[in-house]
Amino acid sequence: MTHVITALCELDGSCVEVCPVECIVPGKKEDAQWNHYFIDPDTCIDCGSCVAECPYDAIFPEDEVPEEYQEEIAKNAAFYTEGPGYDWA
Ligand code: SF4
Ligand code: SF4
Repeated sequence: MTHVITALCELDGSCVEVCPVECIVPGKKEDAQWNHYFIDPDTCIDCGSCVAECPYDAIFPEDEVPEEYQEEIAKNAAFYTEGPGYDWA
């Protein structure tokens, strides 16, 4: 499984500091397609540290993502395979 960042993200970066495997990468607010932070599903170890750290409650375990944010599961993964991924400055 993995954890998933949703559109509730306000890009403050708090989650990045606590991830033990450094699998959270920022998108850019002004880019409509990649406008929040993203978790690499292949690296996330489901420790849950980022959930507690997020002031906007934007992060969910994959099997608890609310219905209205279901598309974010694929979007997080796509960031690393089709999107800017780690090369995004
Ligand atoms: S659940 Fe843990 S490993 Fe996964 S993104 Fe959050 S802090 Fe990183
Ligand atoms: S802590 Fe929450 S709001 Fe901040 S960057 Fe991470 S997911 Fe986004």
